[in-house]
Amino acid sequence: MAIDSYANRFVCDLHAYEPGKPISETARELGLDPSQIVKVASNENPLGPSPLAKEAMRAALEEAHIYPDGGGWKLRSAIAGRLDVDLANVVLGNGSNEIIELLCHSFLNPRAELIAAEHAFVVYKLMATLFGAKYVEVPDPGFVHDLDAMADAITPDTRLVFIANPNNPTGTMVGQEALDRFMARVPDHVVVAFDEAYHEFLDDAPDVLKYVREGRNVAVLRTCSKIHGLAALRIGYGICSKGVAEILQKARQPFNANAIAQAGALAALEDGEHVEKTRAINREGLAFYEKAFAERGLEYVPSVANFILVNVRGGDRVFREMLQQGVIVRAMSSYKLPDWVRISMGTPAQNLRCLQVLDSVLPVAAV
Ligand SMILES: *Cc1c(COP(=O)(O)O)cnc(C)c1O
Repeated sequence: MAIDSYANRFVCDLHAYEPGKPISETARELGLDPSQIVKVASNENPLGPSPLAKEAMRAALEEAHIYPDGGGWKLRSAIAGRLDVDLANVVLGNGSNEIIELLCHSFLNPRAELIAAEHAFVVYKLMATLFGAKYVEVPDPGFVHDLDAMADAITPDTRLVFIANPNNPTGTMVGQEALDRFMARVPDHVVVAFDEAYHEFLDDAPDVLKYVREGRNVAVLRTCSKIHGLAALRIGYGICSKGVAEILQKARQPFNANAIAQAGALAALEDGEHVEKTRAINREGLAFYEKAFAERGLEYVPSVANFILVNVRGGDRVFREMLQQGVIVRAMSSYKLPDWVRISMGTPAQNLRCLQVLDSVLPVAAV
């Protein structure tokens, strides 16, 4: 018998996550120099890593033969101090994706349900499948989470609700009032995960850390992959109510956050200048694309994050044809949005090149 008949069915049933196409692979396939490729497919920071983080990581390399601080004391203390929570509320992850996995590991089983929005970050569905749980998808009219409908979907079997705020790939967010109304309806057997991977890009961010301080069963997920420019290092964190944090600490591997990443993250969190520069270039990028799409009559979803979803009437084709010219965007068919692509904000030069290449592959009638 084939080996997959002996493997865990939930794993075999999984459609693996499709990441943005790497620059190195694209350069190889096109016979181009990697420096000629523009990758705006994974919501990375176009300014690169925080310079302070680079310096701290170089220093940390000297100690690479020593196991990391498994308790992550320095980084967790710094996070707790910045966010006015206790050390015990903070859990480190190998990217915030690992915090998603730890939550699912801890709370899902084949009888449990996970609720998320129809166009939510796809990893929630992958993880629900991995643990054999029921994935409950709630419609999000206008690409905005409908929290009232999500609260209506809660059953005695619900264990997790994921709210990506702002959401990827839609770039939309829900505000304080809707969140408070939602939380007032959530029973104690449900853990609410607020995925705030793009939180630092917001001008008027809602406060969900207050639910942690109130001792509600919640986890607030943040990452150094986006605004801090450390996607390659794989470091993220959860700010959880103590009960939830204790469970996640048991579910994780002993040294899940590596020492180089911990050192980089610690410095990056302190690098307010890099964060501000990134926010500025991001605002500029969003304004540039929104104006360009409006001029071309292209439907787009106004975004508060560092990417934008645009209807190009054939996302797979536009992705392939732009790729031939060395610009990597993200096709959205895995999100059941076959007409759309998602474009991450680049430097002004990258944005301009991306738009020119997009123009060259759009049907003439659309331009
Ligand atoms: C990018 C992203 C993450 C973060 O991933 P890391 O594992 O921290 O790199 C988490 N959630 C959403 C919605 C994202 O878009």
